[in-house]
Amino acid sequence: LASWVGFSNLPNQVHRKSVRRGFQFVAMVVGESGLGKSTLINTLFETKLYQPKNIPTPGEDRGKTVQIESISAEIEENGVRLNLTVVDTPGFGDFVNNDESWKPIVDNIEARFDAYLEQENRVNRLKVVDNRVHACIYFIQPTGHSLKPIDIEFMRRLHTKVNLIPVIAKADTMTNDEISLFKQRILADITQHGIRIFQPPQYENEDEETIQENEEIISKVPFAVVGSDSLVSSPDGRQVRGRAYPWGVIEVDNEDHCDFVKLRQMLVRTHMEELREHTNDVLYENYRTDKLKAMGV
Ligand code: GDP
Ligand code: MG
Repeated sequence: LASWVGFSNLPNQVHRKSVRRGFQFVAMVVGESGLGKSTLINTLFETKLYQPKNIPTPGEDRGKTVQIESISAEIEENGVRLNLTVVDTPGFGDFVNNDESWKPIVDNIEARFDAYLEQENRVNRLKVVDNRVHACIYFIQPTGHSLKPIDIEFMRRLHTKVNLIPVIAKADTMTNDEISLFKQRILADITQHGIRIFQPPQYENEDEETIQENEEIISKVPFAVVGSDSLVSSPDGRQVRGRAYPWGVIEVDNEDHCDFVKLRQMLVRTHMEELREHTNDVLYENYRTDKLKAMGV
């Protein structure tokens, strides 16, 4: 099934919980311009949520701060409705001084927590809209070195507020050896700075298959991703989503070529509900508790 995105597996992820109203999922993308954020979102959800825009010419005024833009789309698969919102953060890391790039993003995440808190406090709680950010895909430039100060600063500021999913952008620009070394360095930096990224939790009472699936996902973190919204011809004549090079074709959906499939599996097919639950039970709950304490309640 070529065009199965995978969120129709949500009813299985939430077991008996009501599916009639559909699901809300908010994904945020952060990373410097040109790292492939819009393309990856389109590739993940098989939408054209993002149309190619005119790329600003150098020197053109793009404003001086990080912008927050959100687009929503209702998508349906096998009768399951997903109300998807993508929060884009153009401008992140693009300025001469990026010291406070994380700030508008934290503000936005907290404003979404506040909006939820406000709804919870209402008498009529029937129509609670969950616009909290459930996952933040953070794009790391494929330099092969290690994390940059801006990466570390961002993740340190955000890891208690949002499920962080770091990815190596445009992995087709690196060799497999470079990627594995880069991954080790990134993970070492993450550990050294005490940053908590989202990983599928390992529960004891899970079946063998699930345990193995989770281990495979964990082994790929940070996911080396390739995005593409066009089809190319593979050497054996198949039409595949990918990127063509003089030396061959990198296939987005081929697990031997990149980690796109594993990222999508975790984000959409198996752990979307886990991401929503962790946001509600841990990240939001901590925020709420701190806020009420600060207010002296
Ligand atoms: P954004 O600014 O982060 O949203 O980046 P875009 O998605 O607009 O992509 C910027 C450019 O990079 C476009 O020309 C894309 O075709 C290209 N691009 C996107 N993803 C990839 C990728 O995985 N590998 C390579 N080599 N190029 C990509
Ligand atoms: Mg973009």
